[in-house]
Amino acid sequence: MNRKKILTGLVSVFFPQRCACCNRVIVPSVLFCADCMKELPQTVYERAAVGGFLCGAALPYAEPYSTALKRFKFHSKPGGLQGFACLTVKAARERFEDKHFDAVTCVPMTRFAVFKRGYNQSEELARACAKLMELPFEPVLEKYKSTAPQRTLNRSQRMKNVRGVFRIRKSYSVAGKRYLLIDDVITTGSTLGECAGVLKAGGCSEVCCAVLCTTLE
Ligand SMILES: [Zn+2]
Repeated sequence: MNRKKILTGLVSVFFPQRCACCNRVIVPSVLFCADCMKELPQTVYERAAVGGFLCGAALPYAEPYSTALKRFKFHSKPGGLQGFACLTVKAARERFEDKHFDAVTCVPMTRFAVFKRGYNQSEELARACAKLMELPFEPVLEKYKSTAPQRTLNRSQRMKNVRGVFRIRKSYSVAGKRYLLIDDVITTGSTLGECAGVLKAGGCSEVCCAVLCTTLE
């Protein structure tokens, strides 16, 4: 056994690969356990963010995926990231078959929120998606104002809550580019719509969205 194999073996003992959906320990070569694999939705969910920006979603925001998403979002550095990224890329590819994206980007969090949580789950997901799609990841947006958590608000409050809180980072130019904008979940589509609107106002040619989960309305 060579050194790399020994190391991989040790890593899998101490940090076993877990199914992205149900968190069961699985062999390192797969992303989901056989039971979850069988249950994965075959179709992609089609949604639109506020402003009419089209969005592909891989999973319904329902059990077991809602618990999986909470684990991904709140509990630790994203376990199951690869599995979630594969599903999100599949949603993007099926929804936007004919599109050629210049780069992948994500819904940002404030610097303070990233500091508190330790990571931005949307950014982790977007980076993993960019890698799978062999596209550059560009963190072009920043959130420069804190907001109340969207989940605590109703639809009209959500729209007001995120209005004017995002902007394009000074070091980036989005002009003429087509972006795939990634977030972990779409509910009312206010946040994605606001981010996509900022990109569009910055001169990018098109914004399409892809998410892991969507609420079912
Ligand atoms: Zn599973």
